[in-house]
Amino acid sequence: MIPYNPWPGVLLRWGLLTAGLGVLGYLVNQLFLVLFLGTLIYLGWHLSNVARLEFWLRTDRRFEPPHGRGLWEDIFNHIYRLQKHHRQRRRRLIEMLQAFRESIDAMPDAAVVLRDDGEMQWWNSAAEHLLGLKWPKDAGLRLENLFRNPEFSEFIQRTYDKPEPIRLPSPVNESIVLDIRLVPYGRNQRLLLGRDVTRLQRLESMRRDFVANVSHELRTPLTVIQGVSETLVEADLEAADRHGLELIQQQAQRMGRLVEDLLQLSRLETSSRPADVAPVDVPAMLHSLRREAETLSGDREHFLQLDVRTQCQVLADEGELRSAFSNLVFNAVNYTPPGGAITLKWWCDKDGAHFSVTDTGIGIPAKHIPRLTERFYRVDRGRSTKTGGTGLGLAIVKHILQRYDARLAIESKPGVGSTFSCHFPIPMCYQDAAASRAG
Ligand code: ADP
Repeated sequence: MIPYNPWPGVLLRWGLLTAGLGVLGYLVNQLFLVLFLGTLIYLGWHLSNVARLEFWLRTDRRFEPPHGRGLWEDIFNHIYRLQKHHRQRRRRLIEMLQAFRESIDAMPDAAVVLRDDGEMQWWNSAAEHLLGLKWPKDAGLRLENLFRNPEFSEFIQRTYDKPEPIRLPSPVNESIVLDIRLVPYGRNQRLLLGRDVTRLQRLESMRRDFVANVSHELRTPLTVIQGVSETLVEADLEAADRHGLELIQQQAQRMGRLVEDLLQLSRLETSSRPADVAPVDVPAMLHSLRREAETLSGDREHFLQLDVRTQCQVLADEGELRSAFSNLVFNAVNYTPPGGAITLKWWCDKDGAHFSVTDTGIGIPAKHIPRLTERFYRVDRGRSTKTGGTGLGLAIVKHILQRYDARLAIESKPGVGSTFSCHFPIPMCYQDAAASRAG
C-alpha cells in the first residue's frame, strides 16, 4: 500500500492562506503588516504543536498522542505508530529471552555465562546444584575463586582457544564427577558447561577393570600353553602333529601380544600422567630403534635412514616414549614391501619437537585415516594378520602422546607410502645446554 502523502494538501492550504492574506493586505492597503501578522500567527500555531509533542514525549508515551490538525495530526500518528511497533518488538524479544532462559534453566547440564573479564554474569539452576553457585550473591565473582582447584584455575586461564574438556569432582559433592568444557562465543565471552558424568565414569572404570582383569587372568594359562607347546615342538613328532603344535605356538604368541597390549592400554587409561618423567635422549633412542628395525626387517632389506636435526629432549617416561615410537617404526617395517625406504626424522622448531616415520609402503586409503587410532581398527584384516599385528598399536601411540599433550598426525597415499608424525608442544621439550653445544 502506498503511504498517504500529506504534502500536496499542506502546500495547497499554505498557498491559499498566503494568497488570502495577500488579497486582504491589498484591500486594507497594509500588505506587509498583514503578511507579517499572518506569518506570526502561523509560527505560533506550529510552536504550540511542537510544545504539545515535546510534552507528550517527555511525559508518558503510552498515552494516546495529542490531537493535532493537518500536518501535525500526521506527525503525531506516525510517531505513535513507530512507538507501538517498537513496544511490540521489545515485548517479543523479552518473551524470546525469557523462553530461552527457561530452556537453558531446564537443561540438566550446568551453564555459566562468563564475561570477557572472566566474571560470572548468569547461570542456570543446574549450575547452582552442581557447582554450588548462589544467585545473586556470586554474580560478578570469578569461578576460580569458588572452584578452588589448581587444574581448574589453569584450565579457565587458557583463554579463548577452546581448550580440551577436563574432568573434575564437583566442589559441592566430591562423589559427582563433572566433565567441564569452555565454549567461546560473541565478543570474548565464554560459556562454561559442566555435565555430570559420574555414571559414565563408573561404567568406564568397570570396563577398564574388566579388560585389565581378563587380560591378567589370561596371562598364566597362556604362558603354560606357550611353554608346553615349545617343549612338545622340540620332541620327536610326526610332521602333521608338529604343524599343529606350531600353529598353537603361533596363536598363543599372538594372544600373548594381545594380552600385553591390552594391559598396557588399561595401565595408560588408569593413570593420568606418568610419575617418572625425565628428559629422554630421543636421538639415542632412535639409533637403538633403527638397529631393532633392521633386525625386524631381516632379509626384507629395507633401506633405513635416520635424520636427527636436533639434540632436543622430551620430558617423558622413557619406556612409554619408546613404546610409542617403536610401534610406528615397526609398523613402517611391517607395512613396507622388501627393499622399501623408511626414514626416521627428529627435529624441532618454534612449535616444539617433532618425530616422524616416513615409509614407501603400501599406504592407507584416506577414508580409513581418521579411524586408525581406534582399538582393533584395521584397514584390511588380512594385512595385519600377516604381520601378526594386534590392531592396538596406534591406539597405544595415541594414548601415550595424549599424556604429554602431543599429537599424532597421519599422511598417507595408497601405493606411495605413509608418514606418521608425533608433535610435542614447547613445554614438553627440554634443551640440554651442553648437549646442544655439542650438537
Ligand atoms: P596393527 O597391530 O594391526 O598393526 P595398528 O594399530 O598398529 O595395528 O595399526 C592399525 C592399522 O593401520 C593396521 O592394521 C594397518 O592396516 C594400518 N597401518 C599402520 N601403520 C601403517 C603403515 N606404516 N603403512 C600402512 N598401513 C599402516
